[in-house]
Amino acid sequence: MRTEKRLRGVEMKENGMNCPEGHGKMVIKRIRKGITFRGIHLTVPTNQYVCRVCGKEAGTVNQAADTQMAISEAYRKAVNLLTGKEIVEKRKKLNLTQESLAKRMNVGIASIKRWEGGTIQSKSMDRALRIALGDQSVGDSCTGNRAFSIPRIKLVLREFESVLGKHILKKNDKMLFAAKYLWYADMVAHRETGESMTGSTYAALPYGPQLNNYKDLIEDIMKADESKAEPLSREEKRIVTRIAMKFPEERMVYDAAHKEKMWKKQPNGAIIPYTDSVELGGV
Ligand SMILES: [Zn+2]
Repeated sequence: MRTEKRLRGVEMKENGMNCPEGHGKMVIKRIRKGITFRGIHLTVPTNQYVCRVCGKEAGTVNQAADTQMAISEAYRKAVNLLTGKEIVEKRKKLNLTQESLAKRMNVGIASIKRWEGGTIQSKSMDRALRIALGDQSVGDSCTGNRAFSIPRIKLVLREFESVLGKHILKKNDKMLFAAKYLWYADMVAHRETGESMTGSTYAALPYGPQLNNYKDLIEDIMKADESKAEPLSREEKRIVTRIAMKFPEERMVYDAAHKEKMWKKQPNGAIIPYTDSVELGGV
């Protein structure tokens, strides 16, 4: 059965095309072909029939999907977007499934499948992809020049609690208020010291800035041991105190965050870059 199938395949190929000069069957050869796509000149591999005797080329083999993918890859390479192959490679290196990458980015799994399969991602989605795939060159704008530390998140929140004199880290409230205090602390620290406090990445969610993937982090933050974190510097403590004095009530920090341009201008789910910390108005 298997042999028969294979034989039929060979036969189909050989019946593809005869050389017009009478040299018999032509063979399929991979050649590079110049095309212009979205205004960019690209060289893409395509399959063509070639005569083994005279070298005459005729008729491109109809493999539309392959060619589309080759164009997409060459185009993305040319305009400095991650190619489908690069996305797959980076994702696998991090042991991420398409689903877990989608979750990291706050997009549907269908988007990941499309980008890996040849759909060209937008510049902003490319940036989000690079961040989610741990590209160091864009890491600074999402971590604020500091390595991400969950114990430090706990430490900063404990510092807020001690200044405010109440608990803000509560189970089951999805850090609705705690995340806003934390966000201000990270952003103000970045603006004034050039470094965030916790290395956290924030997403613009409908109810304000929130830790990116907070659902996966809450449990770990609750369990974290803050004594393992690098102690807060005097400058960092001053920043926490300033924010706490400005927003003594949780509702106040929540409302202030919703007035911040750097949150408002981001589309839903997008990463809020630290580089925008200069635009903070509330503190
Ligand atoms: Zn020929």
